[in-house]
Amino acid sequence: MSIIVGGCYCGELRYEVNGSQEAAFQCHCRECQYITGGNANVVIVFSNSDFQYTKGAPSTFARSDLENPVIRHFCGVCGTGIGSRSPSRPKSMIVKVGTLDKPEDYQAQAAIFTCDKQAFHYISESIPSFEKRPPKK
Ligand SMILES: [Zn+2]
Ligand SMILES: [Zn+2]
Repeated sequence: MSIIVGGCYCGELRYEVNGSQEAAFQCHCRECQYITGGNANVVIVFSNSDFQYTKGAPSTFARSDLENPVIRHFCGVCGTGIGSRSPSRPKSMIVKVGTLDKPEDYQAQAAIFTCDKQAFHYISESIPSFEKRPPKK
């Protein structure tokens, strides 16, 4: 088991993960395009119990007009989005790859929500892509 560490751009927020990833994917949905700045959101999913903040506490945002919103974690100082908690994965923390100290270790296993994909988004031909979410196992 490896320890994975990361944090925000300014260093105010730091986290560590003691465990293995549950999944890794790139999400092309319209919401993620806002969150990333236009591209697909590249994320790793960890178990909530394996993830903890080691420095600082995240600011959070959740849409009040949705019954079951995603809760987004970000640095209140520099604005870096760390990741989110999603009602579709209630026991997980979804971490944005750009906040890892070693993002080069990341490899997406699938592309999801390609229904919203833009022409300038890149999807490797070696991974499966799904219009929405992959079918539940
Ligand atoms: Zn920061
Ligand atoms: Zn998305």
